[in-house]
Amino acid sequence: MKKIILLGASGSIGTQTIDVIYNHQDEYELVAFSVGRRIEEARKILNLFDVKHVCVSSSDDACALSKEYPNVHFTSGDDGLLELVSLEEGNWVVNALVGSVGLRPTLVAIEHGKNIALANKETLVVGGKFVKQALKKHHVELTPIDSEHSAIFQCLQGINREDIDKLIITASGGSFRDKTREELHGVSVKQALSHPNWSMGAKITIDSATLMNKGFEVIEAHYLFDIDYEDIEVLLHKESIIHSMIQTKDTALLAQLGTADMRLPIQYALSYPKRYDLVNGEKCNLAKIGTLHFAEPDTVRFPLLKTAYECGKKEGNACAILNAANEIAVGAFLNEQIEFLDIERLIFKALENIEYIEDATLEDVFETDRKTREYVTNLVKGGN
Ligand code: MG
Repeated sequence: MKKIILLGASGSIGTQTIDVIYNHQDEYELVAFSVGRRIEEARKILNLFDVKHVCVSSSDDACALSKEYPNVHFTSGDDGLLELVSLEEGNWVVNALVGSVGLRPTLVAIEHGKNIALANKETLVVGGKFVKQALKKHHVELTPIDSEHSAIFQCLQGINREDIDKLIITASGGSFRDKTREELHGVSVKQALSHPNWSMGAKITIDSATLMNKGFEVIEAHYLFDIDYEDIEVLLHKESIIHSMIQTKDTALLAQLGTADMRLPIQYALSYPKRYDLVNGEKCNLAKIGTLHFAEPDTVRFPLLKTAYECGKKEGNACAILNAANEIAVGAFLNEQIEFLDIERLIFKALENIEYIEDATLEDVFETDRKTREYVTNLVKGGN
């Protein structure tokens, strides 16, 4: 029985994780969850499951909910998340938080011997090296929920590490894939949020439109599968039917295909190496789809993809700068404080101006995260 602590239960991945747990109650038990500010979602989940521990963002909400549900223990804030991942009752943590705020809970969960199903890619982007060290030290497992990494993880079953030639991560190209660079001036938040294939949270949808998300996925793949950056390729594939591929040294290409349903990677991250029915899952009809398209990504059109490779190779605190600048810039774009193309401009400014530390410690990484957020926030406020 997997006893699950779910972080980020009210987001897109979180609600689909709830669905997976609900559909397989013989296999999974929800023992704790966090929801940020969406208190209504907490009530819904508490009506579905007998859960004893819940974390919310504000202590006022925690107080109010304690009166409403006297048998449930409510905590709040970052400390509340750390308390949740340390609970004796849980043996798996599904981390569906958004942003680098997910790094510390992941590390604390690993220290407490919990296995991790990871949707929070920023955890690996910012602290990949430290997460890997912790996994090794505490002998726990980490399985990917990101659809591309789940595809690669599925393709890798039965394959020896030394037989891999390269990983091929597919990319839909996001909501602006057919626009020229000139056409990106003045695009609206609403346009950016309409992803052609996947229905996801706001931040990741914007990250898809800039290809920052794909860049992060390259870094994530590097840490998850221990593959050099030179051996990780990105391939544009607008149908999002092939979720990613691996090539073996004998030139075989292995791929995982399917409809765009995140419940499959969520479920596989928890069921691996077994497979369960995907309740109400839609099967992929290839005859109906007919044609699949592929193209190389244009790094002039999408400069952040190249930047991600560069930061990944640089290591140190470079990816912490990249990620924090992106989080603040994307937030500012969603609040209509800056334009779409300002996102990359602010990121480049941060990479130029925040000090690079080659042998960054974990504390350096957290400090870089804080400094970069402050720096980019000030740029946004000052109209730069
Ligand atoms: Mg993905």
